[in-house]
Amino acid sequence: MSTATLNPPPTRPVIDRSPAPHQAPPPAKHMDFNRITDEQFAAAADHMKLDKDVQMLLRTPYRELIVQIPVRMDDGRLEMFHGYRVQHNAVRGPYKGGLRFHPDVDLNEVRSLAALMTWKTALADIPFGGAKGGVTCDPTIMSRAELQSLTREFTRKIDMALGIYRDIAAPDVNTNAQVMAWIMDEYGKKHGYTPAIVTGKPVNLGGSLGRDQATGRGTMIITREACKAFGIDLARATVAIQGFGNVGSWSAKLIHELGAKIVAVSDVRGAILCEKGLDIPRVIEHVKATGSVVDFPGAQALSNEELLTSKVDVLVPAALGGAIHRDNAEAVEARIIIEAGNSPVTPRADEILRRRGIRIVPDILVNAGGVTVSYFEWVQNLQQIRWSLQSVNEELEKRMLAAWNAVYRVHADDRLPLRVAAYVVALGRVAEATRQRY
Ligand code: NAD
Repeated sequence: MSTATLNPPPTRPVIDRSPAPHQAPPPAKHMDFNRITDEQFAAAADHMKLDKDVQMLLRTPYRELIVQIPVRMDDGRLEMFHGYRVQHNAVRGPYKGGLRFHPDVDLNEVRSLAALMTWKTALADIPFGGAKGGVTCDPTIMSRAELQSLTREFTRKIDMALGIYRDIAAPDVNTNAQVMAWIMDEYGKKHGYTPAIVTGKPVNLGGSLGRDQATGRGTMIITREACKAFGIDLARATVAIQGFGNVGSWSAKLIHELGAKIVAVSDVRGAILCEKGLDIPRVIEHVKATGSVVDFPGAQALSNEELLTSKVDVLVPAALGGAIHRDNAEAVEARIIIEAGNSPVTPRADEILRRRGIRIVPDILVNAGGVTVSYFEWVQNLQQIRWSLQSVNEELEKRMLAAWNAVYRVHADDRLPLRVAAYVVALGRVAEATRQRY
């Protein structure tokens, strides 16, 4: 550690040198997440009879970085955090992936999310590979100055692995346009003005119009197409959405605009229900004012678990992984699950839901809108031009429809579940590029 890179201590330095919970990398709590992506990979690889050598190449991450992030906290303590960047595969283009700040982040989770990005970018047919980053921290109890120091130190520590044609970062859980602006600024100190190093940054700093709503818009497009394909009239359908952050709130707004009745939404603090349908623009205002969906006037309080098992046509999990698992899958009452978040359904839950005839539209298809508009943002930065919001949304619509059609065709022709079909399309593209390179 170079103390020269630390923030200057405040006037009365109080350095706590006793072992803090963050002094050693936290133990892996998310064994399951890597197993989830691995099992999903295996199902498609077996179906495709994918060559064993190619399987080995596609299963193994290219590079994994674990870095220490010392941060001078506002009270003068020096706290040690741990950060991760996993670069999974780049045969189709530079590594690309979000950055998550959360207490549960560990190497296993980041590794699994990096692999998901490889399949997602291939399915969206954009020239990127897959990566993911994360820092084990609780941003809800950190000040803005502490978060900024953490972000800048993390950027310095992984600088050697980043690059506009090497690895490009983006927002994920608990990171946003502001965090991307700090990364761009820190990276730029060494490399000069480099807006293409991150996507999802403020529009004023070279961000793309439409990036904030892109994952929700993609989710809305896939929900619309899936409902059409499986005989659910969305204009009369009831919908429950778990998670009301970037993805959940935009999905709610856009699905609501199609006429569907959003009866329940939730965030980490709780869930709300209104049988008549929630007025989503007003819920968004309420969240802006209070920080949560709870206590929305006129709605009934619900537990997060009850939301997942409420009787609705469409269930959209848009929070963290593992929300639907072997212990609650039997109680899920939705007709179709739209995986807007990453890995919300575990493989055991997947089996149970499939047996019960509940369709699952997989994450790598549903939430690919985010990385697709990230790609548009990168292109705009490299070319130093700006697209209109209309162009972004039209181009996104085309790409999401192409991905949906490719998956639906394999699902129908090969009689495969949608998830396996999506992996077959994605793996096929990555495997082909691998064979061409090796
Ligand atoms: P976010 O931080 O903006 O929002 C997360 C939301 O989930 C918050 O409302 C939070 O309160 C809620 N939440 C957390 N734990 C919960 C729980 N137990 N029950 C109910 N709600 C809970 O994050 P986001 O960017 O919206 O990401 C959500 C999911 O979508 C993640 O799985 C992420 O990996 C995935 N994703 C995000 C993007 C993107 O563009 N932001 C793109 C692709 C995939």
